[in-house]
Amino acid sequence: MEAKQETYQFKTEVQQMLNLIINSLYSNKDIFLRELISNSSDAIDKVRYKAETEPGILGNDTEFKIQLKPDAIKQTIEISDNGIGMTHDEVLENIGTIAKSGTAGFMEALEHAKGQETLIPELIGQFGVGFYSGFMVADKITLVTRAVGADANQAVKWVSTGDGSYSVEAIEKTTRGTTITLELKKKEKDDKDFTDQWTIRNIVKQHSDFVNYPITMEAERDEPLPDEEIIKDKDDKPIGATTRKVMREETLNSMKAIWTRNSSDVKDEEYEEFYKHLSHDWNPPMERLHLKFEGTTEYVALLYIPSKAPFDLFTQDRRHGIHLYSKRVFIMDDCKELMPEFFRFVKGVVDASDLNLNISREILQQDRLVLNIRKNLVKKLFDLLGKMDAEKYNPFYDEFGAVLKEGIHTDPASKDKIAPLVRYKTTKSEDKWVSLDDYVKNMKADQKEIFFITGDKLSALLNSPHLEKLKENGFEVLLMTDPVDEWVVQSLTEYDGKPLKSAEKGDLDLDTVDDDKKEAYNALFGFIKGHLENEIKEVKPSSRLKDSVSCLSGDTWDRSAYMEKLLKASGQETPDTKRVLELNMDHPVVEKIKSLFENDRDNPELKDYSLLLFDMASVSEGGKLTNPTRFSKMVGDLMARAME
Ligand code: ADP
Repeated sequence: MEAKQETYQFKTEVQQMLNLIINSLYSNKDIFLRELISNSSDAIDKVRYKAETEPGILGNDTEFKIQLKPDAIKQTIEISDNGIGMTHDEVLENIGTIAKSGTAGFMEALEHAKGQETLIPELIGQFGVGFYSGFMVADKITLVTRAVGADANQAVKWVSTGDGSYSVEAIEKTTRGTTITLELKKKEKDDKDFTDQWTIRNIVKQHSDFVNYPITMEAERDEPLPDEEIIKDKDDKPIGATTRKVMREETLNSMKAIWTRNSSDVKDEEYEEFYKHLSHDWNPPMERLHLKFEGTTEYVALLYIPSKAPFDLFTQDRRHGIHLYSKRVFIMDDCKELMPEFFRFVKGVVDASDLNLNISREILQQDRLVLNIRKNLVKKLFDLLGKMDAEKYNPFYDEFGAVLKEGIHTDPASKDKIAPLVRYKTTKSEDKWVSLDDYVKNMKADQKEIFFITGDKLSALLNSPHLEKLKENGFEVLLMTDPVDEWVVQSLTEYDGKPLKSAEKGDLDLDTVDDDKKEAYNALFGFIKGHLENEIKEVKPSSRLKDSVSCLSGDTWDRSAYMEKLLKASGQETPDTKRVLELNMDHPVVEKIKSLFENDRDNPELKDYSLLLFDMASVSEGGKLTNPTRFSKMVGDLMARAME
């Protein structure tokens, strides 16, 4: 049967990525080898774990290893493993695309990184496209793979030169696993020779020493010649060579699992390399925790906090969280049972000697040991975060604060641990993060509540009409700009005994409104409400406004405007919450409207002005106008009249 070759085009984002890699001046090209070795190591982990529950699938091929075969003459390097391999469909799915969920994020990040060389490795690493890093050094890559359980004639060959397309065809392969051949680019003057055995040795030592499986290479060695082959003179002294060059398979890595070593013996660089191997992240981690628990149950944990939030932090199919091992044997990656969701950015390894190797994910959830480990790790992570000074903590919070905050709502048991770690910018902080403790410390003597406001833009919140009076009276207001904050304030109703109070809802009780004055406006307010029946539920004198004419507020238990916006954006059918139109009785416009009204209640302009007051309130909080044309026409007419 004629083997069928199919040609596919790379998806746009993959090709963009490839162009970046191919044209990248990225200086540390060595890491392509680390990436390919890490992939091989993952593939062996997977097949080894599968074999735990399906004995026999390995056949005779039970000695796991990763083989490197450089060829100086052909200028190629081959990386082979006897891991899980890939089927035809898996090749298409894994090697033709960027991690599915990352596409949109990648295009955005790419736009960002344009012209900034230093961002490129970060970008490449962040999007889990380690395989493509081969194109930094190669102008053609061939991948031949045979999945576990597949027959020899069901192997797949993938070839690409990185310029737009790749081809896939069926091929024979006698062994399980994957072989990747890189045809190296022509060397330029400072380039390393990646077929040189010392170069390879050094790269493996530096980046992949701890890999759990032997990384082997046929290396040239001097071997003593057998005595009868040595040519000797009459005094029995050798003339000529006493050794010969032979090729021997050597293991290049020590395979010492970092986490089993004493932390005092592990160098920072080693920790860092291990992190990169584990997480497929190219950036160094922000923090690490190396913990050994001894007692009735023993386990080791090596945890890392990345320095950058991965693109898939908010997607369902994110990967590479905590890897679970038992006595150095891999059980599973992304073990969600070991970390609460609000710590899902934490990466690392947990090695628990008492765990059963064929434990299933379902059983893990109820396993006492697992629950116990999780509890301890969470505690240690809280300790770590709590001890960080602002210089360390703030960058952490910039990256992961939004995830951490989720826990306040989703994990009642951790709420009190998370609340002190939360930070907000405030009306007084000038773009700096403020903790709730600091807020409370700075509260005014007569202040009983912690004021906050939610919305999507910091600048809009900072200038929100709702805060005018609060600011005038010197009260600090937390500016909450994360969608998750809406859920935070539902669960965190008080801090340190002080209730949290929305600046846009309910009465602020800032000063007593003059009852007589209120009385005087009653009729007008009733009239305006009559015109805006469909838009609002009430018209009230405002206790919040100082300079603005009008604003919209809610009752204490109403949804905030931002929450409403979020629900709509997420496509939820929600009935509109009618809001309260607040008018500033001290504003000349309101006073003028009052006299118009008292002169002639049938004046048609009154209706326009009512609408305008409502539209202005919407605009000032960044809301959408139901009829923007009407609004601009009315303003236009007013301007024309004012200029007459
Ligand atoms: P990442 O390793 O971050 O997932 P890659 O682009 O390097 O990203 O690899 C994409 C996917 O291709 C891997 O997740 C894996 O499923 C598959 N893959 C890569 N290399 C191998 C290999 N040597 N053996 C089996 N599968 C592999």
